[in-house]
Amino acid sequence: MQFVDVVLPLNIAGTLTYGVPVKWQGKMQPGIRVEVSLGKNKLYAAIVVHIHDNRPEQYNVKPVRNIIDEKPVVTSRQLRFWQWIAQYYLCSIGEVMNAALPAHLKLMSESLLSWNESLQEPPLDLGDDAFIIAEALHVRKRLTISEVRQLLEGKNIAPVINELLEQEVAIVVELLEERYKPKTERYLFLEKRYENELLLQQVFTDLEKAPKQLSLLMQFFQLKQQDTAVPVAGLLKKAKATAAQLQALIDKGVLRTELIAVDRIGFISGQKDDVLQLSREQEQALLDIKTGWTENDVVLLHGVTGSGKTMLYISLIKEAIAAGKEVLFLLPEIALTTQIVTRLRSYFGDELGVYHSRFSDNERVEIWNKVKEGKHKVVLGARSALWLPFRSLQYIIVDEEHETSYKQYEPAPRFHARDAAIFLASLHQAKVLLGSATPSLESALNAQQGKYSYVALKGRYNNVAMPGVEVVSAKNFQAALSPLLTLDLLNAVKETLAQGRQVILFQNKRGYAPFLICGVCGWVPHCKNCDVSLTYHKSTDKLHCHYCGTKTAPIRHCPQCGSMGITSKSFGTEKIEEELQRIFPKVKTARMDLDSVRGKNKQAQMIEDFAKGRIDILVGTQMVVKGLDFDHVGLVGILSADSLLSYPDFRVNERAFQLMEQVSGRAGRSDGKGKVLIQAYNLKHPVLNWVSEHSYRSFYQAETAARQAFGYPPFSRMIRIICRHRDEAKAAKGIGLLAVELTKMPGVAVKGPAPALVPRVRNYYLQEVWLTVPKDAAFIQQVKEWITVAVNHVMQQKGNSTLQVIADVDPV
Ligand code: ADP
Ligand code: ZN
Ligand code: ZN
Repeated sequence: MQFVDVVLPLNIAGTLTYGVPVKWQGKMQPGIRVEVSLGKNKLYAAIVVHIHDNRPEQYNVKPVRNIIDEKPVVTSRQLRFWQWIAQYYLCSIGEVMNAALPAHLKLMSESLLSWNESLQEPPLDLGDDAFIIAEALHVRKRLTISEVRQLLEGKNIAPVINELLEQEVAIVVELLEERYKPKTERYLFLEKRYENELLLQQVFTDLEKAPKQLSLLMQFFQLKQQDTAVPVAGLLKKAKATAAQLQALIDKGVLRTELIAVDRIGFISGQKDDVLQLSREQEQALLDIKTGWTENDVVLLHGVTGSGKTMLYISLIKEAIAAGKEVLFLLPEIALTTQIVTRLRSYFGDELGVYHSRFSDNERVEIWNKVKEGKHKVVLGARSALWLPFRSLQYIIVDEEHETSYKQYEPAPRFHARDAAIFLASLHQAKVLLGSATPSLESALNAQQGKYSYVALKGRYNNVAMPGVEVVSAKNFQAALSPLLTLDLLNAVKETLAQGRQVILFQNKRGYAPFLICGVCGWVPHCKNCDVSLTYHKSTDKLHCHYCGTKTAPIRHCPQCGSMGITSKSFGTEKIEEELQRIFPKVKTARMDLDSVRGKNKQAQMIEDFAKGRIDILVGTQMVVKGLDFDHVGLVGILSADSLLSYPDFRVNERAFQLMEQVSGRAGRSDGKGKVLIQAYNLKHPVLNWVSEHSYRSFYQAETAARQAFGYPPFSRMIRIICRHRDEAKAAKGIGLLAVELTKMPGVAVKGPAPALVPRVRNYYLQEVWLTVPKDAAFIQQVKEWITVAVNHVMQQKGNSTLQVIADVDPV
């Protein structure tokens, strides 16, 4: 008898074993999907990982119900990657599968097929089985996978579903979620046959009787000279023509229209950029990187902001593509802007695939398939791009490697994309390039210890100077002028605007008033679902919880003492924008934060407006910091440095230094005449000093000394264990039991149990312990096994079955 071990997209430990009916023996291979049942009547598409003939002793195996694929949908490399993630990050391989596979490959019994509403009726050229399903869908609009199965009476449903999806008769709907739609615009193109001069001449002659159409066509050619892609809206406006007149030309088959996603337009309209001239320093760095890779698989590229790291990435990608290999280019989600997409698209055209979490399931499938078929040679993506079915990676580039958003927190797998990338690279024998202007201490220490090779770009491209940094006292303001902006900052803004240059102001809090307090009794409004204070937003005139999104009516009277004295102790981006509009009524301002850029296109639009000079002052949170490259920014203001420096976390200095250095990096990128002004109360804070001098070295020395003294990472490893429950007592009891078990491990320091920093979120209570483990891979692995045993032990105790236990390995 033959057996297969399969992974199900569920949080169950390890794999499950099923028997293989004789008719499918010989057809099983790792990476294909099979249909299996679990429990009473739940059906799943499970992935085969192992084929063997060892009958399991503990339970009666069920047979595989059906074989779904003839060829593997995931490669054996991917399976090994999943296994590593599950083992390293303490989760089940099913959870990894769930995160890694696009929805259409999961096909659970709950999945639905949905009729494509733009069709009138089922197309006639479908296969017989597909036609049956299409007819049923046409009538019923939606069918579950089990219904499809019933209709096909036990036949293999996968090819039928594939046909329906490929012919766009149906789509798979799994979850009702907001779908990211790329912003599209309708563009006009000349039909191919009229690229022939003679035929085109004939069109012009024929059109003499239709002067309006003739003028439209001439305008079209004029616009096409400036830009290869001509937008419909632009042409109609320019030619003062109507849609009907344009339609006539389309009907005659002279022009055709096409919907194009806006982030692809950079590619359509520009020619492919082939020349790439590196500076001497860049050439040298490239050589050093290559040499570095002969010694270590990972190279850390430490290049100040504006040093031209991206150009180095581009030349490496070109080289890999020329060698027929692939490159994965990772960026933090927030830094994945149209700006960088357009820049890469101009070099790589359609060989570039872009992948991030805002894409819909269907778009993900499309990219998945293109990577699998080798059509996308380079993928620019956020951390989820690690799951794609690469064939043969030569390089993985992790830009802004210090970014904490590379770590996924919710849901499992709680992986760090940089660290996982290094493992993935080893599976492909690929090399890794970590890039940053402010490397994480983890990577810098690895470089210092020779585990990574180190390459530096010390100056900006073109010898552009680094911006001058000035720290000013936040006390130096005149309330009558502005209670938020110091006189120094006001003057600097005026001066910069007078020079016709732009300003970026950074504040790490959104909303209007992030912290309200009763001036009489000290009462603070809190969220009813979470233990956090609420932020007042003027745009909605509501109090918002930034943890759970709840909005409540604003409070004018203190419910505790009845006074009207509720005041605001801090200010957010919304308030700053209002303040600027009041002080500079003629100046164009814009605000970029989570509230103002709901939907990705708004952010892209704002970036473009700023780049084109249609905005003078941009106020924003982290979003204005990450990876943006503007030419005319003369001043960057950091409004409240103290709040960055007072976060209760041992990494606070590292975060603050990185953030401020990145923000200042937006100033004077093209001419070196940039200035940075930092408002702070505590002027003596060492981080401010390091930022003023752009001295990563001083930062590194001071910070590593402190971390080493306290035994913090990167000199040790941490694992955080969290117990989550709606009942506070149950969460506390669970963590208490766990702490007892975990304290039994020799060589591991256990801190806690204690409530989490935010002890309640969405009505779940969070209690945690922190483990500090020496940096020894084998020992850490033992500790992880111990944790698994301890967690199982606690979960099996009576009354704990509803407890959620989360392990967060290498938390950041
Ligand atoms: P970083 O990624 O290190 O912040 P960028 O790659 O964005 O730096 O480079 C900063 C600026 O210098 C960009 O505007 C870029 O276009 C320009 N630049 C860098 N290298 C070159 C080069 N070799 N040729 C032309 N322009 C370059
Ligand atoms: Zn009060
Ligand atoms: Zn809340």
